[in-house]
Amino acid sequence: MKSHPLFEKLRIFAPGPTPVPELVLSEMARSPLHHRTKEFVDVLTRVKSGLQYLFQTKQPSYVLSSSGTGAMETVIVNLFATGDEVIAIDGGKFGERWGKLATKFGLTVHTLKVEWGQAVSPDDIIKLLKAHPKTRGVLFQASETSTGVYHPVKEIADAIHKNSDALVIVDAITALGVVDLPMDKWGLDAVISGSQKALMLPPGLAFLALSQKAQEQRKRSNIPNFYFNLDAEDKAALGGETAWTPAVSLICGLDVVLTQLQKVGLEPVFKHHAKLAEATRRGVKGLGLELFAKTSPSDALTAVHVPKEIPEGKKIVSYLRDQFGVTIAGGQDQWKGKIFRIAHLGFYDELDMLTILAALENTLKALGGHIELGKGVAAASQYFLEGRNHGK
Ligand SMILES: *Cc1c(COP(=O)(O)O)cnc(C)c1O
Repeated sequence: MKSHPLFEKLRIFAPGPTPVPELVLSEMARSPLHHRTKEFVDVLTRVKSGLQYLFQTKQPSYVLSSSGTGAMETVIVNLFATGDEVIAIDGGKFGERWGKLATKFGLTVHTLKVEWGQAVSPDDIIKLLKAHPKTRGVLFQASETSTGVYHPVKEIADAIHKNSDALVIVDAITALGVVDLPMDKWGLDAVISGSQKALMLPPGLAFLALSQKAQEQRKRSNIPNFYFNLDAEDKAALGGETAWTPAVSLICGLDVVLTQLQKVGLEPVFKHHAKLAEATRRGVKGLGLELFAKTSPSDALTAVHVPKEIPEGKKIVSYLRDQFGVTIAGGQDQWKGKIFRIAHLGFYDELDMLTILAALENTLKALGGHIELGKGVAAASQYFLEGRNHGK
């Protein structure tokens, strides 16, 4: 980067991994506890109840030492049997992953393709459920991180419940802790999250909660598994432990995050995310840019079309990194170089969003964008100001 190393400050605005608060970093810097001790059992017990709070469920929660995909795999190999039919909603990279995973383990996958940038229509799910009445699960993302779209979870769950017995399986890795997703109230059967997004931790942990109906369906499962075996986890949980050596330092960090989260309460956390997300959207629109999400933009991240004057969109990402030490995410697959994505889930505040908008304006202008400096920052700043005035 261009500034003197003495003044280098790395800033992450990619939708995972996200920044980690100092309170959490210092907790994780302590000597790791041994995982078969009362001390650690106390931490894990507190963490699991904190996760129940976060998932808004009375069902037990699982902590897995893996990235988020490990929890996706856990769901497939523990809840389904070879040949089972599932519907996978594929509106982006992560939806595609559901389909690939299920296919790999021998499930029959009916894919519901959704144009990138669009939210899935519950009516289309109903049609597919009617065409495949033996469907045992519908796999989807709450927030599709590759496109910045929020799929309407409640409407999807309602549509599934009214038309089938299929399990409602939600990858909520960039939604849990961002938007309200009451698992028990909405009848979600499997909800997944991971450490490195809204939960303000480094990568390495995945979380899962299952409804009673999902727990029942485990009995039918015949897919070979070992590391991601929920029977082994249940057995270990009787003694307050995990089956294998867990990522103890991350779990101690998670303890800090969940304790703070419970002090603050879910509602203010959702409001905070909604505010930063709206300010970011106003900021990029203020610059004359177009959001990638046609409807239902996610409050976790904002995906934006690269302006036409900049033919090589990838340069936006590299310029931000080289000049400012800022990491954002580009587009994936057919949208590589055509969109970019800015995160606002987890450990961010108002000034962070003004900072990234300032860096973005400057970058776009430097690369030949038809940009008026200050317009993005002004729109977002104005929104924050109005919010505070109304809050009084
Ligand atoms: C980050 C993410 C995942 C998990 O990816 P990992 O790299 O395995 O942690 C899954 N789904 C969504 C929607 C994500 O954003």
